[in-house]
Amino acid sequence: MADFNKVLEPGDYEKGKLNVVIEIPTGSNHKIEWDRERACFMLDRVEPMAFAKPCNYGFIPQTLDEDGDELDALVITDQPLTTGIWLKTRILGVLKFVDGGEVDDKIIVVPEDDRNNGDKYQTLEDLPKQLLDQITFHFNHYKDLKKPGTTEVKEIADVKTAKQVIRDSIERYIEAHPEVKAKKEIKEGAEQAKSAIKSGIEAAKKAIKEATK
Ligand SMILES: [Mg+2]
Repeated sequence: MADFNKVLEPGDYEKGKLNVVIEIPTGSNHKIEWDRERACFMLDRVEPMAFAKPCNYGFIPQTLDEDGDELDALVITDQPLTTGIWLKTRILGVLKFVDGGEVDDKIIVVPEDDRNNGDKYQTLEDLPKQLLDQITFHFNHYKDLKKPGTTEVKEIADVKTAKQVIRDSIERYIEAHPEVKAKKEIKEGAEQAKSAIKSGIEAAKKAIKEATK
C-alpha cells in the first residue's frame, strides 16, 4: 500500500480544496485508523453500534494535529465511502473538538465534484441542521459507555477558521519532517529562480528592441 503521507499533499487549502484519505465509512462502528508506522490501515477497536459514525471519517495527508496524529476530516456524502480511498474535497468548516483535554479538531468537507446533488453544499449553511446536530451529538457522546464526559464539541466554525487549523497542522508537520521542509524550500527557490530568469529575458528582449530601433 502507498504511504499516503508520501504520495499525497494536503491540497490547495487556501483555495478551499483539501485531499482526504478515508478511514471509516458512514454508518460503521469500526474504528479503523491509519497506521502511519506501517503505512496501512488497522482496526483499532469496535465501537458500540449506538455510536456508528454519522459521516465518513478520515485524515489529511502531511498534517500534524495537536494530538500527534494527522488532522482529521469528516466527509459528508449520500453513500458511505470506502476505507483506503482518497478524494478531492471542498472545505465547509471545522468541528472544534476536545478529547481528554487535547485539541482534536475535525475539518468538515464534501466531495469536490458531486454530480448526484449538483454540488449543492458550498458552505456550512447549506448542510442540513439535523445532520450537524447528529454529528455534534455523536462527538459529545461516543465515548460515554467507556469514559463518560471526556469529549466535548466546542463549536462548528466556518471555513476561515478551518483554513487556520489546516495551516497550523501543515506547519507542525513540516517542522517535524525536515525532508518535506527541504523539498518545499527547493521548490520555492526554483520558482524564484524561474521568475528571475523570466524577467531577465523580458528585460533583455526590451533592451534589444530599443537598441535595434
Ligand atoms: Mg485526531
